[in-house]
Amino acid sequence: MKKTIYLDMDDVLCDFTAAYKTAIKANPAIQYPQSQFDYFRKLAPIKDAIASVNYLLQQPLFEVYILTAPSIQNPLCYTEKRLWVEDHFGFEMVKRLIISPHKGLNRGDYLIDDNDSGKGQENFEGQLLKFGSPEFPNWKTVISFFQEKYQL
Ligand SMILES: [Mg+2]
Repeated sequence: MKKTIYLDMDDVLCDFTAAYKTAIKANPAIQYPQSQFDYFRKLAPIKDAIASVNYLLQQPLFEVYILTAPSIQNPLCYTEKRLWVEDHFGFEMVKRLIISPHKGLNRGDYLIDDNDSGKGQENFEGQLLKFGSPEFPNWKTVISFFQEKYQL
């Protein structure tokens, strides 16, 4: 039986916080830099994220999806998140992009997310791997978890 893994985007696949800090410093007058055109598309990938996701995609045991909540005040983000996925993973991965402000409605085994509540993470029935926590500080620890658990 395949295991379904959902991946958050901001601060798991793409470095939202670094871009936010840089933008606030560069232009303090813009209080919400995430409301600006192309903000989401230009985010840099988190270290090891791309290679780690490609690794998970190659495992026959796993079904991998991106599950990201939109910044609902910024309608552009829906398009920019879709473009970011194609930019970094190619078009096929776009079929695995789910944009939802209610992550708990998705059924699956794992959710890799830096937040454990706020966008329905608290209602997710599977296991939450809290990215950035002491247990999963980076992608290497996430991949090690799956390798040990499933003898990959
Ligand atoms: Mg996040």
